[in-house]
Amino acid sequence: MSASKKDIYIVIGGSGFLGKHIVQGLLDRGDSVSVFDIVQRYHDVPFYSGDITEEGSVAQALQKSGATCIIHTASPPHGLDAAIYWKVNVEGTKAIVAAAQSIGVAKLVYTSSCGVIFNGEDHTDVDERMPYPAVPMDAYNESKAKAETIVLEANGKQGLLTVALRPSGIFGPGDRQVMHGIHQVYERNQTHFQIGDNQNLFDWTYVGNVAYAHILAADKLVPSSTDDWQSDTPTLKEEEQD
Ligand code: NAD
Repeated sequence: MSASKKDIYIVIGGSGFLGKHIVQGLLDRGDSVSVFDIVQRYHDVPFYSGDITEEGSVAQALQKSGATCIIHTASPPHGLDAAIYWKVNVEGTKAIVAAAQSIGVAKLVYTSSCGVIFNGEDHTDVDERMPYPAVPMDAYNESKAKAETIVLEANGKQGLLTVALRPSGIFGPGDRQVMHGIHQVYERNQTHFQIGDNQNLFDWTYVGNVAYAHILAADKLVPSSTDDWQSDTPTLKEEEQD
């Protein structure tokens, strides 16, 4: 797809905290967007109800929506059994890639997590060259790493361009996990203990900025030239130098 052509977006997991901000960001700039999710929270946006582990449902939604760009933010929340992460994050992401390739969708932006490289030790000033840990932190992070690999390995294959983003902790309006958990600790008066030496740092990013990063990633995901459209090499267009 040429950079000048406008994409048609489908946000998978678009009923979630981050997904809703991505949908709003796309609507705010006048883009055409629909949502695929197991939970319906929209009345003003085309909505496709379905589970990402069912490739047929995903393919049908892609076909009907006419999407040229998928933004895949769906995931179960923290604290569940390992099997659900494998089913949704790994098998579900495989199904999305397969459906996208069978329908001929041009772009896939995947919401990974900074947790994919976390092994319980401090990481300061690391970047995407940091390898996955030999022993993953937990099933959630292991499944996110596997899903990210599936997405990145699909790049350039069957006309699909892909990118994965690794947000750190996300905060902002609509959050139902982080602030709720912190507030519950406060309400239960569980504030009189400390883990560690109180020097630990953790990265947080405002949800609006994470949503914007997804939209920018989608915008930048264009073939760098007609020649490498079919190649297996990463095709994120380089920023032009001034
Ligand atoms: P969320 O739970 O608010 O949203 C996830 C959405 O995915 C929900 O609407 C849910 O219904 C949907 N979903 C779950 N399973 C599905 C399935 N099988 N089929 C279709 N839809 C399904 O979560 P969030 O906080 O908005 O997180 C969005 C993404 O960002 C996730 O992939 C998460 O791993 C990643 N992430 C979140 C944080 C954070 O701090 N919230 C940090 C790093 C990465």
